[in-house]
Amino acid sequence: MTAPASTVEELTAQRDRARQDHADLVARGLRLDLTRGKPSPRQLDLAEDLLDAQAPAVSADGTDLRNYGGLQGLPELRAIFGDSLQVPVEQLLAAGNSSLELMHDALVFAQLGVVPGGERRWVDEPEIAFLCPVPGYDRHFALCERFGIRMIPVPMTAGGPDMDVVERLVAEDPRVKGIWCVPKYSNPDGTVYSDETVRRLAAMPTAARDFRIFWDNAYAVHHLGDEPAEIADLLGLCAEHGNPDRAFVFGSTSKITFAGGGVAFFGASPANVEWWLSCTAKRSIGPDKINQLRHVRFLRDAEGLREHMRRHAALLRPKFDAVDKILTSELGGTGLASWTSPAGGYFISLQVPEGCARAVVAKAKEAGINLTPAGATHPYGDDPADRVIRIAPTYPELPEVEQAIAALATCVRLVGTEKILADLNS
Ligand code: PMP
Repeated sequence: MTAPASTVEELTAQRDRARQDHADLVARGLRLDLTRGKPSPRQLDLAEDLLDAQAPAVSADGTDLRNYGGLQGLPELRAIFGDSLQVPVEQLLAAGNSSLELMHDALVFAQLGVVPGGERRWVDEPEIAFLCPVPGYDRHFALCERFGIRMIPVPMTAGGPDMDVVERLVAEDPRVKGIWCVPKYSNPDGTVYSDETVRRLAAMPTAARDFRIFWDNAYAVHHLGDEPAEIADLLGLCAEHGNPDRAFVFGSTSKITFAGGGVAFFGASPANVEWWLSCTAKRSIGPDKINQLRHVRFLRDAEGLREHMRRHAALLRPKFDAVDKILTSELGGTGLASWTSPAGGYFISLQVPEGCARAVVAKAKEAGINLTPAGATHPYGDDPADRVIRIAPTYPELPEVEQAIAALATCVRLVGTEKILADLNS
């Protein structure tokens, strides 16, 4: 991302134009929010029929779902999601409404009980660490901070985390107990892990015997285009390479049905599932099976799920296309930015010149555009290069997305040209 050879006069004129555009923006008094990856109300409307729950609340095997029990979750619902999450139905559990909650619980259970293959509870280790591919998901990092788990950033490549770095770190340091992975349409750069990355994650020797991959497949079925991305089967590969207990798989319907009223899933090896159930049995006498039944009736089967996701894509694609189009027309060829064009998921990652991300977010705020704080994509909120900005275009309506991205581009032009001129003068 090197600036084209512009004369100082040209750059100064561009900066002055950007200053004027920014002042005009501030005067417009916009109020737009691109902070979080939430489904829009129109996406939530797609699942409105979920609310029409009908009696009888009885499962396929005749169980009365109104009562306690069924810790593993409704088998019919697990059957719908087994293929997309790449977990055999017997090893897939359906739980409450949040997969983040399950990731939190997984860490608590590993801290307070010994995971299969482990020798000690993690809380009894002098120190533990997790690998954090960056840019990544801020709530993963927040969980590590909450539990005092040291975070080690690992750079992302076009095919997932840099596996040379991952393999070296896990091989040499037994304190490294886990890695966060969002393997499909990752948050925030939309990366799809290559088959080779998945195979290496499954096969790599680790110094910690109780190493775990936190496989957060939050966007497993969230395709924007007509060609769904496929990723390799992590659980199967772990078993094949003699590491059957290495993976914890997470997913949810938060961005399929209702973000605040969906169903979350946990999948793993038989030994891990048995361990998980022994922990959760102390915590609950069973999940909300009525909500799970509502999901079965609404989605029907795996094809019903695919069909439903196509309706989401029809609402989301124009927003992602608009971001790409506006960034291309406003910033293409300027050398001031590069950005991702994901084939699925909820985010676009914008890279600005080094040292500019915080300033761009601040300038956007002055103009009434709320963005995820710069740095949130990195552990401890610190993007050392200060370059990455996460764009979440799903929630606002299309005209608002267009306004917000055009405004953001103005802020990038302003901060970027100011930076280049300051560098030239220093
Ligand atoms: N994982 C990732 C990667 C996410 O982006 C999100 C939501 N932004 C979540 C998990 C949250 O999932 P849930 O709603 O199931 O807790």
